[in-house]
Amino acid sequence: KEPTDINVLADEYLRLAYHGLRAKDKSFNAELITDFDENMGKVNIVPQDMGRVILNLITNAFYAVNEKANSDIEGYKPTVKITSKRTPHLGGVGGGSQSVQISISDNGNGIPKEIVEKIFQPFFTTKPTGQGTGLGLSMSYDIVTKGHGGKLIVETSENKGTTFIIELPNSTDN
Ligand code: ADP
Ligand code: MG
Repeated sequence: KEPTDINVLADEYLRLAYHGLRAKDKSFNAELITDFDENMGKVNIVPQDMGRVILNLITNAFYAVNEKANSDIEGYKPTVKITSKRTPHLGGVGGGSQSVQISISDNGNGIPKEIVEKIFQPFFTTKPTGQGTGLGLSMSYDIVTKGHGGKLIVETSENKGTTFIIELPNSTDN
């Protein structure tokens, strides 16, 4: 692990994924919103691993908004947003421990209830053959939890969209 500026990492992967998709599909379009905490500081992570997690979540988000855009809903504006913030852990032993959150939100169709329980299982995919391996979220889950002692949380609302939150301990010795 090394002290890493996650804002820079997330911003780079967002733009990389967006331009990569647009190079393949000229009609792909989405509004990108970033809301980065200026006081994030550096967080001790394995940059390549956390980069893969962020890229996976961004790729899923773009897929979700693109799918919704292709269903021609009037006035729909595909949007993907990345937010970062530091959150103080109140009342913990020592009092000063903090965590950081990176969230990736899309305004796609959300994940149906009966599916959301399965999304972290390896090889679970709802995508057509060739478009998904079903490994992105299970790999991301392992990297965040086992690799970094963090949490990967999903919040989803049918027809409104999905947010994945990466929560990491922000100590310098993790
Ligand atoms: P893959 O992308 O290859 O299908 P993942 O592990 O990344 O595999 O995701 C598993 C499944 O979770 C997807 O097939 C999809 O059904 C669901 N999913 C993941 N992210 C989103 C999202 N942002 N919006 C809607 N569904 C999602
Ligand atoms: Mg995926």
